[in-house]
Amino acid sequence: MNLGHITIDPIVEMVHPFMAPGDAMPQATPEAMEPHRHWLEPWSLCPQTGQLIIAVQSWLVRTAHHTILIDTCMGCDKEAEPYPYWHRRTDQIWLQRLAAAGVQPEQVNYIFCTHLHLDHVGWNTRLVDGRFVPTFPNARYIFSKADVDMAGEDDRISYRQSVLPILEAGQAQLVDGDFALDDNVWLESTPGHTPGHVAVGLASVNEHAVMCGDLIHFPVQCAHPDWAVAFDTDPALASQTRQSFLHDNCESGRLVLTAHFPDSSMGYVEREGDAFRFRFRPE
Ligand SMILES: [Zn+2]
Repeated sequence: MNLGHITIDPIVEMVHPFMAPGDAMPQATPEAMEPHRHWLEPWSLCPQTGQLIIAVQSWLVRTAHHTILIDTCMGCDKEAEPYPYWHRRTDQIWLQRLAAAGVQPEQVNYIFCTHLHLDHVGWNTRLVDGRFVPTFPNARYIFSKADVDMAGEDDRISYRQSVLPILEAGQAQLVDGDFALDDNVWLESTPGHTPGHVAVGLASVNEHAVMCGDLIHFPVQCAHPDWAVAFDTDPALASQTRQSFLHDNCESGRLVLTAHFPDSSMGYVEREGDAFRFRFRPE
């Protein structure tokens, strides 16, 4: 799709049932979910498994000056033991879809990671001769400094496989939440899911969009912005960030690109009662 002179394409790696609502969000009990089933099934809530469905995808952004990827999905050969769809993947479908959109890894000059969880950094690197090396040899990787600090302390395997090799290759640029690349692309600090979580703002010729990362995971959180997910570092702050994000983007009518909503993953936030709903924009 076009946003002024920018083109934006989702690069989907997978769409799959993820986990039961109550496991993902402690407040999403069967009783609390019941009034929402009619609008969530079957696209966002799987009627067979009762699990929430997620997409794992990147956003390819091409401006007059840059070829940019926002988040890099799960990748191949990565350890993700609790998640069967994510663990040691072998297919190259994401790279093939990137190629089908007309982009080879060498052409990408910026990678933006909204945060450093495993499903947002996977294709940062790929396995070559037993070592993880940068997938995008000519790219600068923009990481939030606060999240690099936290990930370094936690020292999880996803950090060692998908972030550390970028730092060691000298391709990372560590930034604060107010970093701007230029007039087309900038960061917006949206902490809570992780301390340094950022959304990515996009604009061209008076048209505006924002890629929201994991400040919201599931469409049902538009109706319940206070439902934090189990993986939020600071659930109260994450809920506050989500509430203000939904309010602000409802007011402004800005196009929202999501990390995990299934089907068409972009749309507009609209008011519904004293909360919100998401109106999808067809791709
Ligand atoms: Zn995620």
